[in-house]
Amino acid sequence: MLNAPDLRGQTVLALHAHPDDEAIFTGITLCRLADAGARVVLVVATGGELGESRVPLGPGETVTRRRVAELERSAALLGVSRLVLLGHRDSGLPGWPSASHARALAAADPLALAGRVAELAAAEGAGTLIYDDEQGIYGHPDHRAAHHIGAIAAELTGATGYRITVDREHLHVSARGAHLVHGAAGAADVAFGRVTAEITLAVAGGPEHLERKRAAITAHASQVDPEQLPADEFAAAYGYEWFVRAGAPGVLDLLGNAHLLAGAVVA
Ligand SMILES: [Zn+2]
Repeated sequence: MLNAPDLRGQTVLALHAHPDDEAIFTGITLCRLADAGARVVLVVATGGELGESRVPLGPGETVTRRRVAELERSAALLGVSRLVLLGHRDSGLPGWPSASHARALAAADPLALAGRVAELAAAEGAGTLIYDDEQGIYGHPDHRAAHHIGAIAAELTGATGYRITVDREHLHVSARGAHLVHGAAGAADVAFGRVTAEITLAVAGGPEHLERKRAAITAHASQVDPEQLPADEFAAAYGYEWFVRAGAPGVLDLLGNAHLLAGAVVA
């Protein structure tokens, strides 16, 4: 049984690097928060400019415009109350020259951006910030930047920080390479995620949350081929979302910790 707390009056700010990260890494968490009555503010730092479109674009349509439209659809599916774009540019993978572009997120001043996020969190009364873990989940420079921005903003506002990661052991055992992070980490050439013992909290979803997560991921049709999402093993690969908490227990803990349900994580 999933916890169904009453979170009316709570505001959660989730910061992500690119359109699609919100669905892939936190889709269940965001829709469970919204279902529980929390106000969910989604902040996305870049337009994912370097994600080549796998579908033909419309006349005059840019990748960024397409990706922002997909993000809006995903946010609506997940129950997001407000979507804010920070307006930076995708930095690309380690070593790409795009990292030195004037608007590249990885080249931006994390303090200045953290100040913007903190201001937004304060104006929204957000007591909870969700952002990437120290290694940017799988090492992408924009995800690392999102970590720095989120961590500083959480400190500035005194909010509880939940650092997004993936359980490398769970994905190895249960999903056998079926999660999109496997391919992404291969491209970035780094180890991804954490071992189970390093993770504070695993948020689980029921069948309805899984369906919404799948719909939100596939809303990013320019980036994700639905065939890449396993039909049989979708729950094993995407049924949990993992966080390392910084600070006192907060709102996400109220959703329940799937780690505590015996056998749940490797079910
Ligand atoms: Zn990303």
